[in-house]
Amino acid sequence: MNDVWSDDTPITPSAPRPRRSRQARVVWGSRIVTVGGDAPVRVQSMTNTDTVDVIETAIQVKELAIAGSELVRITVNTPEAAAAVPHIREQLDRMGVDVPLVGDFHYNGHRLLTEFPAMAQALSKYRINPGNVGKGDKKDRQFAQMVEVAARLGKAVRIGVNWGSLDQELLASLMDANAQRAQPWDAKQVMYAALVQSALGSADYARELGLDADQIIISCKVSGVQDLLAVYRALAQRCDYALHLGLTEAGMGTKGTVASAVAIGQLLQEGIGDTIRVSLTPQPGEARTQEVVVALEILQSLGLRAFNPSVTACPGCGRTTSTTFQELAKQIDDHLRAMMPVWRARYPGVETLKIAVMGCIVNGPGESKHADIGISLPGTGEAPAAPVFIDGEKALTLRGEGIAREFHKIVEGYIERRFGSVTAAH
Ligand code: SF4
Repeated sequence: MNDVWSDDTPITPSAPRPRRSRQARVVWGSRIVTVGGDAPVRVQSMTNTDTVDVIETAIQVKELAIAGSELVRITVNTPEAAAAVPHIREQLDRMGVDVPLVGDFHYNGHRLLTEFPAMAQALSKYRINPGNVGKGDKKDRQFAQMVEVAARLGKAVRIGVNWGSLDQELLASLMDANAQRAQPWDAKQVMYAALVQSALGSADYARELGLDADQIIISCKVSGVQDLLAVYRALAQRCDYALHLGLTEAGMGTKGTVASAVAIGQLLQEGIGDTIRVSLTPQPGEARTQEVVVALEILQSLGLRAFNPSVTACPGCGRTTSTTFQELAKQIDDHLRAMMPVWRARYPGVETLKIAVMGCIVNGPGESKHADIGISLPGTGEAPAAPVFIDGEKALTLRGEGIAREFHKIVEGYIERRFGSVTAAH
């Protein structure tokens, strides 16, 4: 066999590149969510309730916050929705939910933010879409009205450009200028430039109007993975504002999840992006919190943050016809997720726990040894015994009908022993 290490160069572990953005702050009461700089990459989500329905909206915001969303955006599209916002905030405060609320404004945000001061105060951040603030000479005036409220109240602003509502006047002017080039760009390149220019030109104008750089977050959302990569690389080269990442209209189920993970994951790996949202279309009956679950998994998969203990399970193959390991892995995963809201406080550090549930002897013992706790279930034809590994050492062997129940108990006992000592001292 060739000695491929003759140059004595080790393989360097892969890691996301450091981010270079400045830090923005989103504040509600004593809760300060920093975005960008050395802050962790933040998770955001958006409700799909009618904002006028105060209770339903507050309940969904709470669910999203419990799932792990650190900022929650709500639609503010009518005077009735604007009037409901302070009541949603009060209801959340009564429920002990201090997640900052972001208002999503299009077309009439200038009027709503000036005519409903209690709403402007109850929100922690305003999302302004430069493509939807007005046309002609109204555009700058209406944008300025919104930014002036944010500057006066010390609120953060996301300048959120979207290719579905791109500023058509800007796009037309860039198309005209492009036509004069000796070698015109293709239409897509002009569109990319329009997205970036709309965002950064609006940020410059917001600064002139009195907004500080640490009140500004930028996004330029598109629905194609390669388009998103191109636009955000260009944005990151041209500014140091905190960047909000996400595919717009990512789609449903597997398609939306995979596309979001590929696009967001790639950019985060390059050190681009400070806060993320996974814009999934919920499948019928699916909880809105699924978009938060996916966002957390993206960050945890990249090693950027740890939210929940991880359960490694093998895919199964012809060596095991039993579904026991699939069922056990799912039971453990479900149990850990259900318990995490309580355990996070009771067992600091529990989110770093690694559990392996493997289907047979081929990779079972090896993978189990890499985990904090692992179990290698018997494959077809193997002796009906399941060795359990704790901290890399074989600790015991489970047999018989109650393997799942006993393994649950072992996991809980391990969590109590390893992560329970901190609270025991209090
Ligand atoms: S651990 Fe065993 S059952 Fe699981 S995929 Fe590998 S060979 Fe197949």
